[in-house]
Amino acid sequence: MDTGRIIKVAGPLITASGMQHADMYDVVRVGKQKLIGEILEMRGDQASIQVYEETAGIGPGDVVETTGGPLSVELGPGMIETIYDGIQRPLEAIRAMVGPLITRGVQIPALDREKLWKFEPLVEKGAKVETGDIIGHVKENIVVDHKIMVPNGVSGVVEDIKAGEFNVEAIIATIKKDNGEKADLSMMQRWPVRVGRPYKTKTPPNVPMMTGQRVIDTLFPIAKGGTAAVPGPFGSGKTVVQHQLAKWADVDIVVYVGCGERGNEMTDVLREFPELIDPRTGETLMKRTVMVANTSDMPVAAREASVYTGITIAEYFRDMGYSVAVIADSTSRWAEALREMSGRLEEMPGEEGYPAYLTSRLAQFYERAGSVVCMGSDNREASLTAIGAVSPPGGDISEPVSQATLRIVKVFWGLDASLAYARHFPAINWLNSYSLYDARLAEWFNNNIDKNFMKQRGATLAVLQKESELNEIVRLVGIDSLSPQDRLTMEVARMIREDFLQQNAFVDTDAYTTFGKQYRLLEMIFKYNEMSEKALEAGASMEELFKIPARDRIGRAKDVDQAEYEKVYEEIIKEIEAQIGSLIEAAGGEA
Ligand code: ADP
Repeated sequence: MDTGRIIKVAGPLITASGMQHADMYDVVRVGKQKLIGEILEMRGDQASIQVYEETAGIGPGDVVETTGGPLSVELGPGMIETIYDGIQRPLEAIRAMVGPLITRGVQIPALDREKLWKFEPLVEKGAKVETGDIIGHVKENIVVDHKIMVPNGVSGVVEDIKAGEFNVEAIIATIKKDNGEKADLSMMQRWPVRVGRPYKTKTPPNVPMMTGQRVIDTLFPIAKGGTAAVPGPFGSGKTVVQHQLAKWADVDIVVYVGCGERGNEMTDVLREFPELIDPRTGETLMKRTVMVANTSDMPVAAREASVYTGITIAEYFRDMGYSVAVIADSTSRWAEALREMSGRLEEMPGEEGYPAYLTSRLAQFYERAGSVVCMGSDNREASLTAIGAVSPPGGDISEPVSQATLRIVKVFWGLDASLAYARHFPAINWLNSYSLYDARLAEWFNNNIDKNFMKQRGATLAVLQKESELNEIVRLVGIDSLSPQDRLTMEVARMIREDFLQQNAFVDTDAYTTFGKQYRLLEMIFKYNEMSEKALEAGASMEELFKIPARDRIGRAKDVDQAEYEKVYEEIIKEIEAQIGSLIEAAGGEA
């Protein structure tokens, strides 16, 4: 092994000489403790190394060993339900080995070498296979069927394949490659985290990722394979939104990357997830989740590694043909780590001290999302959806990280402190949020939910927009100046906000709403609107219209059990017709 010597230590950045044999992004082991680091810059024989562990006690003269390879992850059975740190060390296993405090320099494989997995082959001897082909599978747990794929760069004829119980390093198949060489395959692959895993083609994302969150699904939907950002000031409900997505998104696998400095955020996730039940499987949510969490004793530099580790693991599951979501909290903390390292490297600073390559780094992360045709001869389709939380200081999204993110992502869920203060949750501001997938998803919604889905969605946004204009007028000249029509619009907007957009994450019946029910909830409100317009024309009293008993039922409809709502919907529609109908008649009109 080649070695160099430390000449300078500055926090997480060390400089070593005698490193002419090393390459950019090579992983190195630093000092007696063998701390893990990555080369960020090479100048002559000097390497600048970002160390992913606390560098206290490391000093000039200490040895730096190169490993000769880039930062890589191990991919194979055993990742699900595991909590990794930023450099893919399993936290539980570390704790079992060395206790909760000392983790520096601990070398522990990401995938358990002892554990046996029951491998069932899916191809036979003599079969022709290529990169990405599924040659067998392992039931990783009751939820996840872990496909074993032919690794990148291998294709040929299966010369041998076994069935039985193996650990991740055991040889389970031998492929005779086209050039005559043999490739022995185990269930484990390695992949350099900074390189996106290959796929055949990207396809336009045109299926929505159902989240059960009404403001998201109906107004600002995200496609499977899409990208979204959730910027939000402290206390605006960012964590709750992310938890809701992790819980309810209709994906097969969730990779949760916690690169925040607020240790308690991650603890919340760690505590909550194992207790949460996945509505689709009846099992705990952890059974479809991989977590990457920076422990508090890791320096900020490790945040960067964790983002790459997380997305690489997500890509690997995508490659199996699954829909995967990666949730990164928070990309601002990652950007701050980039800024810190960039400062220490004395690079030319860009806006607010962030490096000039901030946007391209963020883009590289989000670009790894997408709806794809996977490698492999069966042309299976899969998706990787990337959602990043941004935590702008003071909630001001004009700062560089928010702005750079907004230029990249296609969906923006703008959390708003004033909505949160008014206890309107989820505090997603309907006036500044957007989804650039709406046109692309229109066909899916109209074909699968209701042919009027997009029309009704458009009407909903229009009412909300109108309300904000009317609010201005009311502020200037008072509510009495509004026409009965406009008063009705204000009232309907209020119903949309209170009876549809507000959704309590902590009430079981409300936490999740299907697309179908979302559509029905709005339909009732628009039925009320339509009947009320007629009533106003007939000269009915506005006050009485606003007081009809059916409104109370509309307000409670969101809490109606999923199985009951069609029935309740029909009852409510009839009540609206009857109650407003009699007001119209009383006013001398025709219902
Ligand atoms: P942040 O992460 O932005 O600091 P949190 O996600 O912790 O904020 O939310 C702060 C508080 O707001 C929560 O503790 C909860 O009381 C409330 N809250 C946020 N979202 C919801 C929701 N969808 N339903 C009910 N309460 C919510």
